[in-house]
Amino acid sequence: MNGKTVMACIEAAHATLKEHTEEIAALDQQIGDGDHIFNLLRGVDALLGLRADIEAEAFAPALDLAASKLLSTVGGSSGPLFYSLLHGMAKASAGSGDIASVRDAARIFAAGVDAVAQRGKAGIGSKTMMDVLIPVASRLAELADDD
Ligand SMILES: [Mg+2]
Repeated sequence: MNGKTVMACIEAAHATLKEHTEEIAALDQQIGDGDHIFNLLRGVDALLGLRADIEAEAFAPALDLAASKLLSTVGGSSGPLFYSLLHGMAKASAGSGDIASVRDAARIFAAGVDAVAQRGKAGIGSKTMMDVLIPVASRLAELADDD
């Protein structure tokens, strides 16, 4: 995994957010002002604009570049939380160059999720993004154990 992998993940996230924009906005309107999806898309669009820079980097600096851009473009609590996810992953992978194993990917993702948990002071059952991130981290670890 390298900067190109990071960019491919950003593109996949962008496609999914675009596909479900109306659904996410409608859900958010039930409890808030419905701007969450547009806040996220502003950040992901900014990342797409950094494609050449992100793709040219190794894995950890590519994640850190994306993290900093999200922090400066996504408002509210989401910016710092997504910064923590990507920066936490970058810290866990620093110095390892391009990441090759699923086991490494699972460990690095779990470190990012831990960073979000610490920043947000939230865990499983908190009706936050942690209710998705923690099970995904657990499943990734299981898949890595099963090779
Ligand atoms: Mg809102």
